[in-house]
Amino acid sequence: RIVFKVGTSSLTYETGLINIRQMESLCRVLSDVRNSGREVILVSSGAISVGLAKLGIVRTAHSMPEKQDDAVQALTEKQAAAAVGQCELMYLYDKHFTEYHHKLGQILLTREDIDHAWRKANIVNTFESLLGMGAIPIVNENDTVATEEISVGDNDTLSAVVAGLTHADALVILSDIDGLFTANPATNPDARLIPRVTEIDDALRGIAEGAGSLRGTGGMATKISAAGICFENDCTMTIINGAYPERIYDLLEGRSVGTLFQKEESK
Ligand code: GLU
Repeated sequence: RIVFKVGTSSLTYETGLINIRQMESLCRVLSDVRNSGREVILVSSGAISVGLAKLGIVRTAHSMPEKQDDAVQALTEKQAAAAVGQCELMYLYDKHFTEYHHKLGQILLTREDIDHAWRKANIVNTFESLLGMGAIPIVNENDTVATEEISVGDNDTLSAVVAGLTHADALVILSDIDGLFTANPATNPDARLIPRVTEIDDALRGIAEGAGSLRGTGGMATKISAAGICFENDCTMTIINGAYPERIYDLLEGRSVGTLFQKEESK
């Protein structure tokens, strides 16, 4: 059982619109992974970016609101954009996965759902039913209702939580970078890829410091905290470059791809 997480920057262009080639390629590989007998769950970001682009709303770092009223309006706008973008995402996922005869189910969650015992039990039961029926659950935060107080906040953490809830064997995070580097490879030519992490300590958190892209929510820091959740649940986590979904095959064949997070005594 594998949870895959795809980030906004791997799924969309700078324009905010869907990167069709990348999305198609991801759906084809995941369909194949499902055909091989593995159970697949996909946590997908991109709703806000796709919705904003579709609605023609342009956001830049400089257009972030300064006043409280503007902040409220920006949040409402984002929530409306998520509602629009989520439809578009599911329409395209359904179209691509249906091409390979797979069934999908949409699951939208907030932190509040996971923190409530009976809601959590319902979520777990629904995941198990869907997987038992051979369907692929597609998960996102329920952005239209999730304000800061009740949200998980980023899909790296959400995917690790989902991996825990469903007792997944592995979490694979498709990012816009090859994996975790010793420094920022965009600015430091000496930066090297770290192929394997067995312990999460302050030194590692220091390496991972830094903001994410404008279009996504997470950065390396949220991926490290996701790895922490995976370590607690005996689940491995790998960060690979989402621009090359075919690398998922290499990963499943046991080759070293991206950065593998695996606790020393883990199975
Ligand atoms: N839920 C957000 C969206 O679909 C993405 C959150 C994230 O990038 O971590 O746009």
